Amino acid sequence: MSQNNSYDNNNVFAKILRGELPCFKIYEDDYSLAFMDIMPQAKGHALVIPKFAAETLLEIPADMLAHTMTTVQKVMSAQKTTLGVEGVVLMQLNGKDAGQTVPHLHFHLIPEHLANLKGHSAEKGDMEQIKALAEQISQVL
Ligand code: 5GP
Repeated sequence: MSQNNSYDNNNVFAKILRGELPCFKIYEDDYSLAFMDIMPQAKGHALVIPKFAAETLLEIPADMLAHTMTTVQKVMSAQKTTLGVEGVVLMQLNGKDAGQTVPHLHFHLIPEHLANLKGHSAEKGDMEQIKALAEQISQVL
């Protein structure tokens, strides 16, 4: 993975990308990885990350960002198809001051109304349910 100097190689998403930590994967290609959030703000909460060492949106080259956003689009479409939802919140936090807790660029895809979301990074979800949702969403990816 290419990288810039201030990037923290030991963040959890870098470890997931290196295969050092497990995840409930839903999609992967040469440029990006999509997996389930283990502290979901709603049922089916997924994350898309680039295979590029950027902490925020400002550190990723435009072509890598374009590849990542294509994956965001695919995952959102799969969530709508498999979970039967019409609305998906797309959220992306830049920097600790914005509430970012994992310093590797990522896009949250949360299939729920904004007003109904649970707290951010607040509580571990039911792992069996998350695993089942990952299987369901990945079926069409
Ligand atoms: P941020 O606050 O950086 O925008 O969001 C980080 C997200 O990563 C949170 O929604 C949190 O629940 C999730 N998260 C934190 N640690 C892990 C982990 O080890 N695995 C997975 N799959 N998600 C994580």
